[in-house]
Amino acid sequence: MSANRKGVVRPVSTSPWVIDTRELGRRPGASRSVHRTAAASYVLGLEDVIGVPVGAEVELDVLLESVVEGVLVSGTASGPLAGECSRCLDPITDEVSVRVTELFAYPASATDETTDEDEVSRLVDDLLDLEPVVRDAVVLAVPHVPLCSQDCPGLCPGCGGKWADLGPDHRHETIDPRWAALQERFQQDPGR
Ligand SMILES: [Zn+2]
Ligand SMILES: [Zn+2]
Repeated sequence: MSANRKGVVRPVSTSPWVIDTRELGRRPGASRSVHRTAAASYVLGLEDVIGVPVGAEVELDVLLESVVEGVLVSGTASGPLAGECSRCLDPITDEVSVRVTELFAYPASATDETTDEDEVSRLVDDLLDLEPVVRDAVVLAVPHVPLCSQDCPGLCPGCGGKWADLGPDHRHETIDPRWAALQERFQQDPGR
């Protein structure tokens, strides 16, 4: 068959993210709803920024519909978020709920033959893997610059302390550059 089959990885059928679509029997119009929880096996979101952490449970509530080209999955995925404020680095926790709509094309279908692998998901041995689909949806849903609060004052550039803890009077002694130059001259020429 076409060369683009080479990179296809067979989903691990024991993963809670992987759904067996065989019972839909490739009859367009047949459908089945799936409710289950699945633990994230990698960060679902922006790694080192914000996402559903590894091991956190995601609730899946999806409908599988058999269509001519494959299986259409639509529904929601909800789970906890963990990240870091990009100004003060405080931990952030939140919840995320995303809508997913994804066509998993049958091998050798017109969609399979006319699209690249990264454009449209594929069924492999009648199995589909929802985890990458949910990850992509979470990436689009989370803030790329997460903040603990919209007016987070961040960190003092002088000492790295949190402005929220340092208070408004916090400052570092800085010598006026004109005085610094003068001081230097006296130190170089102490005899005069
Ligand atoms: Zn913050
Ligand atoms: Zn400081």
